Amino acid sequence: MTAIKLTLLTIILSILSACGSSGSDDNSSGIDANMGGTPNVQSSLLEWPIDCVPGDGKCLARIGYPDINIDGVAHDCNLPGYVGHQGTDIVITEQAMLDGTAVLAASAGTVRWVFDGKFDQCPSGHPDCQVPSDDWFVPGQSNGTRVCTPEIECSNGSFGCFYCFDGGNVVVIEHPDNPDVHATRYDHLKTNSIVVSPGDIVSAGDKIAEAASAGRSTAPHLHFEVWDTGFYELADPWVGTCGPNTNKQFWKNDPPWASSQG
Ligand SMILES: [Zn+2]
Repeated sequence: MTAIKLTLLTIILSILSACGSSGSDDNSSGIDANMGGTPNVQSSLLEWPIDCVPGDGKCLARIGYPDINIDGVAHDCNLPGYVGHQGTDIVITEQAMLDGTAVLAASAGTVRWVFDGKFDQCPSGHPDCQVPSDDWFVPGQSNGTRVCTPEIECSNGSFGCFYCFDGGNVVVIEHPDNPDVHATRYDHLKTNSIVVSPGDIVSAGDKIAEAASAGRSTAPHLHFEVWDTGFYELADPWVGTCGPNTNKQFWKNDPPWASSQG
């Protein structure tokens, strides 16, 4: 496989599954983030990526969980956000969107990609809310809900890989000092709310943008993705008997939105 072209689309997910089987299922790698004892271990854990708590009147109680192994079952044995959902959807109220709800860096790192300027109250008839065809992938360009990175070096050293996201306004942060998380992705951001630029250094908890409903979105929410071993190498940060992650802790707190002193 040369250029990896992926979106939120389930169809494309199937391709990922087929192409990426050798790199999947790394949750059994034996890295135990709960061991404690060294500062590095603590820094690998993720903080809650939005400034609200499920059920607090800003965040809805319901969370749309990932289904990265595409079996239609989330980590908690209930329905995921939808079959093949690649991230965690944290839904906010319309009022919370209008008031401004901060999206926060989940871990320290360097901002890699920023896409802004798309209309942010989808769904609607706005052109920025239109989902392009399943085969539209053009590096460095955007079309409707979809934005694509320029071509970069692939993990195998060849050139010409790029990545497409259906999140409209999107930020991707790389975490070079985090041994367990390569990058995190934040979708559906409010137009012109992004306060970081590519190359910026961020700390965990830093505000990077505000949540809204840009891109392929049916209601205001943050779509938060965890990539563990490389770009678009999806990980499920939620431990559970029905998901692909049965033992590896990704979150700093339990529940993830609990304050750090808790
Ligand atoms: Zn989502």
